[in-house]
Amino acid sequence: MGNSEEAAAATNVALKDTGAPTIFDKIVKKEIPCTSVYEDDKCLAFKDISPQAPVHIVLIPKERDGLTQLSKAEERHKDILGHLLYVAQLVAKQQGLDEGFRIVINDGAQGCQSVYHLHIHIIGGRMMKWPPG
Ligand code: 5GP
Repeated sequence: MGNSEEAAAATNVALKDTGAPTIFDKIVKKEIPCTSVYEDDKCLAFKDISPQAPVHIVLIPKERDGLTQLSKAEERHKDILGHLLYVAQLVAKQQGLDEGFRIVINDGAQGCQSVYHLHIHIIGGRMMKWPPG
């Protein structure tokens, strides 16, 4: 692991799920700008500010409703979780990712989650590696 990767991992381990509002709340409220690529009444997709591939979209529920991270999911979240996954493949098609793409949900410190508002990364436009880092 390079120094920058180690630093990023250390930063993520220091971040915790406090339940406090996140930068994504501000994006939903349009208090800070984003490049939106899809929106409906339940979710919003926008370009990641630090793209890891030619296409890197973040898809979030507009209402966090306790879903700070996937491991906080409760029975009532099943509908929004299904909706998000369905929309993820719509967005991938809209972005022209016909040869394939990757869906990522980082969970918690060891999952390198940095924003505690559940989100799906839609990543593509290049050959992915496996296993991931
Ligand atoms: P996580 O590390 O929690 O899985 O993913 C959070 C993602 O949100 C990161 O890929 C990061 O680049 C992205 N991100 C953080 N802040 C902003 C922002 O203000 N605008 C946008 N467009 N993306 C952001």
